[in-house]
Amino acid sequence: MKPFTFEKAKNSAEALKLKISTRDFVAGGTNIIDLLKKNIAQPDGMVDITTALSTEIKPSEKSVNIGAMVRNTALTTNSDLLKDYPLITKAVLAGASPQIRNMASTAGNLLQRTRCPYFYDVTTPCNKRKKGSGCSALNGDNKMSAIVGYNDQCVAVHPSDLCISLSALDATVHGLNAKNEKFMIPFKDFHKLPENTPWLDNNLPQNALITHIEVPKNEFHKKYAYVKLRERTSYAFAMISAASALQMEGNIIKDARLASGGVAHKPWRWYEAEDYLKGKKASEEIFKKASEIATEKVKPLAHNGYKVPMLKGAIELALQNASKL
Ligand SMILES: Cc1cc2nc3c(=O)[nH]c(=O)nc-3n(C[C@H](O)[C@H](O)[C@H](O)COP(=O)(O)OP(=O)(O)OC[C@H]3O[C@@H](n4cnc5c(N)ncnc54)[C@H](O)[C@@H]3O)c2cc1C
Ligand code: SF4
Repeated sequence: MKPFTFEKAKNSAEALKLKISTRDFVAGGTNIIDLLKKNIAQPDGMVDITTALSTEIKPSEKSVNIGAMVRNTALTTNSDLLKDYPLITKAVLAGASPQIRNMASTAGNLLQRTRCPYFYDVTTPCNKRKKGSGCSALNGDNKMSAIVGYNDQCVAVHPSDLCISLSALDATVHGLNAKNEKFMIPFKDFHKLPENTPWLDNNLPQNALITHIEVPKNEFHKKYAYVKLRERTSYAFAMISAASALQMEGNIIKDARLASGGVAHKPWRWYEAEDYLKGKKASEEIFKKASEIATEKVKPLAHNGYKVPMLKGAIELALQNASKL
């Protein structure tokens, strides 16, 4: 590991002052420390932001604000989230382990890097790790890779569970840029597709700080589900995940949200399937049809064709489970 300086910021202004392009922030450290140990991240300095940012979950009439330093465990135990935003809790509980959730921060979860095995193997080409070196997964072992939204630059998937729920609930990321000015980015625009800049995972401005996540008040707290399919039942990243949330009047679906993990470079919303569901009477047939609409345009790679029926099943099950709650 390369030697680096370590400074602890007292507040956000100090954190921004200390942050230059050769230094990284460290929050829970559950991802960045692994990247340091594997020589993937090689900063000259680390800026500890654990006491610089909010650890509060603040509900209001219109939304809830989740501080950047709220630990993942707190997302699963907070009474306001459990009552009004339980999809978040459900998704977080499907991820990592209790020990990791105790350390992991909300903002850090959004910014964790992909789990593509070639990204972690510094002996192999990887455009995300080393610009222009190539993509080993494209024609290599792409069992865990994307089935939608990828290109020949990168076929990696976004690894977070929390982000799938935040995507379904139309959250907004709030932060401060390098000049200490406030900005906000709708969640759907926060993470990006590979495009010609596969080394960038998101549209966070350079050296910016996430301060909190805002989730608008919604009617999805009664009917929701998170289905995560993985190689082990715990402590594993999703092969496929599906978050669903329904707003219903009797048997009629007034509004629907559907998002998936393990399918693309970013949390993926199935907008066409959502539109199809609106106004329909809930039934196994329409959930099946919605899952078919969602999967119509996905294009598996050589080794991940299994993901297509798996995704169909996960979406169908998530909708069925949500409608029954
Ligand atoms: C074995 C293992 C299994 C896991 N399984 C899952 C899983 O199943 N599902 C899942 O969703 N996650 C899983 N995780 C990932 C884990 O949830 C993330 O590592 C964690 O959420 C990252 O948060 P952190 O606070 O530790 O981030 P850190 O490692 O401290 O930081 C991550 C990145 O975010 C940046 N950063 C942090 N906070 C800010 C901020 N406020 N503003 C700007 N930049 C910031 C840091 O500079 C760094 O680049 C797993 C991790 C491990 C190690
Ligand atoms: S899929 Fe992306 S992360 Fe994986 S090897 Fe290709 S460029 Fe690297």
